[in-house]
Amino acid sequence: MGQVLVLNASYEPLNITSWRRAVVMVLKGKAEGLEHDGVRRIRADLMQPTVIRLRQFVRVPYRPLPLTRRNLFQRDGHRCQYCGTGSDRLSVDHVLPRSRGGGDTWDNVTTACLSCNVRKGNRTPREAGMALARPPHRPLSGPGFEASRLVRSGHYREWAKYVIGLEPLEAPLRRVERADQLLAWAASSSS
Ligand SMILES: [Zn+2]
Repeated sequence: MGQVLVLNASYEPLNITSWRRAVVMVLKGKAEGLEHDGVRRIRADLMQPTVIRLRQFVRVPYRPLPLTRRNLFQRDGHRCQYCGTGSDRLSVDHVLPRSRGGGDTWDNVTTACLSCNVRKGNRTPREAGMALARPPHRPLSGPGFEASRLVRSGHYREWAKYVIGLEPLEAPLRRVERADQLLAWAASSSS
């Protein structure tokens, strides 16, 4: 639990660092603490930060995240994007099949369980009548992605609100629940 999420002045995740380095940055006035460990104190007036934000914006070169199975499954919360199952037999599905010109790109690949992948076959989701939980997208940034991996693994929960695009594993189900609640609310308020 000794790691600290470093945000740029714009609140974008920039880096993950040790608590010692984070404390030095805060003491030097280069960063401010946004979230703190409620238990560990560095000094009487300083709690150990868990999220800090740089006071000055730094420009970082864009580092695209490599498209690998591991990164893809992580982007999709290790769940089939068609049926929502968290099976360990996950596969890579090309939304527009490769045989029909679909590329190996972040916006054309998604996570599918084997049975959904076989069922979909050589068709688009539309042709197969299978809806995607989320349209495939390129993950935002390397540091943000790494931070989301740590949050998902159950550590550093207080980082979650600073990690854009992070959704809990059960997000597709929750969304349905929320939609149902919304419909119920709309129905009750219109009558
Ligand atoms: Zn499936």
